[in-house]
Amino acid sequence: MHDFQAPPDLFANRTILVTGASDGIGRAAAISYASLGAQVILLGRSQEKLAAVYDHIEQAGYPQPAMLPMDLAYATPEQYQQLATMLTNEFGHLDGLLLNAAVLGDITPLEQYEIGTWDHVMATNLRSNFMMIQGLLPVLRLAQQANIIMTTSSVGRQGRAYWGAYAVSKAGIESLCQIWAAELGNTSRIRVNCINPGATRTLMRLHAYPAENPENLRRPEEILSLYHYLMCEASAGVNGTSMDAQPVS
Ligand code: NAP
Repeated sequence: MHDFQAPPDLFANRTILVTGASDGIGRAAAISYASLGAQVILLGRSQEKLAAVYDHIEQAGYPQPAMLPMDLAYATPEQYQQLATMLTNEFGHLDGLLLNAAVLGDITPLEQYEIGTWDHVMATNLRSNFMMIQGLLPVLRLAQQANIIMTTSSVGRQGRAYWGAYAVSKAGIESLCQIWAAELGNTSRIRVNCINPGATRTLMRLHAYPAENPENLRRPEEILSLYHYLMCEASAGVNGTSMDAQPVS
């Protein structure tokens, strides 16, 4: 799967929603899915950054994307229901959902962890993933086969001092992925899996490790094979797993 070679039309006629598509790994994944024929829906907070990704995709001549500025930390169940209705009316079905958006919060001891930051991280990184899947199930069920990818981290598999709400939210993602996969796997055509991107050259990584030389890290564009594999039929039967996009050091 790490050497999975995506054929050029892998995602032709597919509609894929990517959260956190305005920057980092989500931006690279959205552009890559579009380059392989998908109509991508770009979700992020910053309208300006989303517009830059939109323009990039349009100028490259890939299928026309859609832009969805939305703050996941504050989204309500009604907003997710409206989103499902909009996607059904505009696209007919949703074939893929890459749940990638997240914030780092503070790197600080739990003893000093600020409660407001805790709530914001948990709402963005964990609660929104639960609510998004719950809200979008009706439009995901309209696809012949729908693939959901959630985003974990090595600190979600083994807790690490000072990583606070971020680590707890990612541990929750691992569990949420397993539960959705178990509940949906045998009764519908929806698969749910998790990717740990590993150390990748993005703004989040820079904030987490300011002293690190980014030149030593892979760029988001270099870790996408697994994002292609789990989003397509090559991974049929794979459900409820958590995989690494690159070797974990
Ligand atoms: P990033 O460069 O900081 O990008 C984060 C993205 O999430 C941005 O597009 C941002 O949108 C969006 N976002 C944040 N809060 C949001 C909110 N409330 N509502 C909507 N969108 C929101 O991060 P990244 O490094 O690419 O990380 C992507 C994923 O990989 C995350 O889940 C992260 O935990 C995981 N991960 C990353 C690494 C790494 O080394 N980079 C390692 C392990 C796991 P705006 O720009 O519009 O604010």
